[in-house]
Amino acid sequence: MTEQNKNQLKGLTKDEVRVLQEKFGKNRLVPEKKENFFLKIIQVLKEPMFLLLIAAAIIYFLLGEPRDGTIMLVFVVGIISIDVIQEWKTDKTLNALKNLSAPHITVIRDGIECTINSEDLVPGDLMMIAEGVKLPADGKVIKANDLCIDESSLTGEAEGVWKCIDDSGNKDYWKKDHCYAGTLVTQGTGVILIEKIGAETEYGKIGINVAEAPDRPTPMEKQTRKLVKVCAAIAAVLFLLVCIITYFNLPDHQLKERLIESILSGITLAMAMIPEEFPVILTVFLSMGAWRLAKKNSLVRRLPSVETLGAVSVLCVDKTGTITMNKMRVRECWAISNNIKETNKIMGMACEVDAYDPMEHAMLDYCEENNIAKEELFKGELISEYSFTNERKMMGHVWKLNGEVVIASKGSPEKILTLCNLDKNEKKIIESKIFNMSSQGLRVIGIGKMILKDEKDIPETLEECSLEFLGLVGLQDPPRENVKNDIASCVRAGIRVVMITGDNGITASAIAKQVGIPHSSVIITGDELNTMTDDELQERIKDVSIFSRVMPEHKMRIVKAFKENGDVVAMTGDGVNDAPALKYADIGIAMGKRGSEVSREAADLILLDDNFSTIVDTIKDGRRIYDNIRKAIGYVFTIHIPIAFASLLAPMLNIRPSMLLLLPVHVVLLELIIDPTCSIVLERQPAESDIMERKPRNPKESILTTSVLVKSIIQGMILFVASFASYYLYLKANPEQAEVARSIGLAIIMLSNVLLVQVNSSESEFAYKSLINLKKDHVMWAVGIGTLIGLGVILYTPIAEFLSLAPLNLNQIFRVVVTSVAAVMWYEIVKLFKKIRKGRIK
Ligand code: ADP
Ligand code: MG
Repeated sequence: MTEQNKNQLKGLTKDEVRVLQEKFGKNRLVPEKKENFFLKIIQVLKEPMFLLLIAAAIIYFLLGEPRDGTIMLVFVVGIISIDVIQEWKTDKTLNALKNLSAPHITVIRDGIECTINSEDLVPGDLMMIAEGVKLPADGKVIKANDLCIDESSLTGEAEGVWKCIDDSGNKDYWKKDHCYAGTLVTQGTGVILIEKIGAETEYGKIGINVAEAPDRPTPMEKQTRKLVKVCAAIAAVLFLLVCIITYFNLPDHQLKERLIESILSGITLAMAMIPEEFPVILTVFLSMGAWRLAKKNSLVRRLPSVETLGAVSVLCVDKTGTITMNKMRVRECWAISNNIKETNKIMGMACEVDAYDPMEHAMLDYCEENNIAKEELFKGELISEYSFTNERKMMGHVWKLNGEVVIASKGSPEKILTLCNLDKNEKKIIESKIFNMSSQGLRVIGIGKMILKDEKDIPETLEECSLEFLGLVGLQDPPRENVKNDIASCVRAGIRVVMITGDNGITASAIAKQVGIPHSSVIITGDELNTMTDDELQERIKDVSIFSRVMPEHKMRIVKAFKENGDVVAMTGDGVNDAPALKYADIGIAMGKRGSEVSREAADLILLDDNFSTIVDTIKDGRRIYDNIRKAIGYVFTIHIPIAFASLLAPMLNIRPSMLLLLPVHVVLLELIIDPTCSIVLERQPAESDIMERKPRNPKESILTTSVLVKSIIQGMILFVASFASYYLYLKANPEQAEVARSIGLAIIMLSNVLLVQVNSSESEFAYKSLINLKKDHVMWAVGIGTLIGLGVILYTPIAEFLSLAPLNLNQIFRVVVTSVAAVMWYEIVKLFKKIRKGRIK
């Protein structure tokens, strides 16, 4: 586009856009769903936990104890508020994430190119499109440069359609001077004047694909659902048991009272046993995790990917731009006949006038450094071009210059050489030069030209040309700064890094050596791949980590082979053709900067800075999040054990319902503490120090492993014994002081809860270390100190009476503290032993 043309395209002004947006609305196929606040509350109310709560409240009223009933209801409102706020926050986070990863498009407004959310497109907008863009609306083509569009999603026609500016002679329904929403630019560039958006588009009218695919539950969701069901079933059985026992424990009461008291005891137990936190943990941890990742330049498009990330065992990455900086510089230029100037000139003429590829930029810069100005390079008339494809790996420009036709061509030397007529000796010289350059890690490009007298002689394809070989150019693309360290940390973490590139094998291997990829001397080339069977490939990839001269189609086979071997594969891709492989990989990673829209749409993760280090950080965070989910689930088990057992054991010990350690109110009270502890404190736990020293976790392993379960049960049982024994012994000695006994037991549980989080925050580090790590985390402190203040309030203010509690004296407080510390901190000693043993083994 020349300067003048650019000026002509002013596009809409801000004010016009505002008016049009009001008139036409958002560019959406289906109108946005409005979130219904009441629906949300009803959803929360449908949880079994709330049904139990409500039932308990009703029973209190029936018992003629409206005070207790009211307290229950107040708590119910409290829990509903926490849940609704939680959901609202998660929704907000998820929507923000969705917006960030929503399709974007470049438009010209107020004469300036700007990137906007595709939803904000209006009729009248000027949209700039290029290879890889998926069209978000219908419009008329006003500029087309080699513009080819795949319309198969609309017309079923597999062949690409070449677009032009005027198609008035054509009677077909689908116009060649129009572009349609839902189709894909496969080549070239263009400018489109938007005419129709949203449901008005042809795509919208057909109504295909409009309904979003329903979210299928992930393995982890399935696991937790199963867990909840198992717990609920056990709860139901125990509910009956407790009801019956309590009933027979109360022979001296009236029938109505007997019934109601026993049901109440049962309900307390059921409330204590249903792990309603599990689903909350999943959504909160994953969405908060995704949010934290987004702040670190990595956008998660599908929430469950966060959990898969931690299991990645193979990381397939593109070389150019991910491992390297994609900042090319010409390092060496070699001409076979010593005519460097001509080689440079043809190299420049083979570049796009509006170069966008970093390599071509580097070439044009080099020409300029050697005093060949752009004006001189491009003074002829560009009459035709042979475009670059991944299969061809070379390209050519046909110039009309001084009455001659000059074909300037550049590409991978292997391909260029096949078009040149060279004798054995020359070939040998060239090949040794290629080897020499590539071993230094340079990307080598061959340059060739062809002179014709007549335009009529221009060959149909580049392959039919017979070129005169001019020379070679070596370009350097230095590795990104931190790549070496990151690859080393992947190696320690048991993650294989596999490099995939369209470049030459020797270059690839030299770069791999520079950045420290293991086994960098063995390579599989695209040609070898073509001749291999899937089984052979599966065997070979066990120890080969470099693939050179591959085409995007090969990526699919590579991912497949790794997956067949049982690996969890993350794969990067930027091109249109990478989309299938990205979809197929466990974690498809698209590039935010240079990636195509299509690849972004197919990906699970978008890398905003295209940086390898970010991938490694993301995997590390994935591991941390999974760890924390596991810790949280373990914690929920542990803390429910003293509550559930207390409710279960009381009727067996024939404790009167009014003297129980935990009345329904107290169970609810504890829930009010457990929920935030989980979703705030445990979610924020930093990564364990050895998180990138372990092997990737087995993807088949269940979230609740035996060791986690055993640990939780032991911790929980000790907590139970500590709290229940303290309460029971006191009650035995002072049968008329049930309130004090209860307060002792409850205080032990609450205090232990605060300590437990610290102890369990790391498997290897001591609790004081975790505390030091969290020194600056105000939120974490707020929850811990809040719990202690809450304990003070319920014991030492008039509220105590409402809750059937009583203040404790100093002596009792002292005993509570000692008991809690002992009941929780013993695990520190286990850690110490683990450390000693580890030290010995090492
Ligand atoms: P990578 O996987 O490193 O991104 P590409 O697929 O971009 O590699 O390129 C593969 C090969 O194609 C390059 O090594 C080069 O030989 C050739 N090539 C790439 N871009 C161009 C271009 N604009 N002109 C000529 N040849 C090119
Ligand atoms: Mg590339």
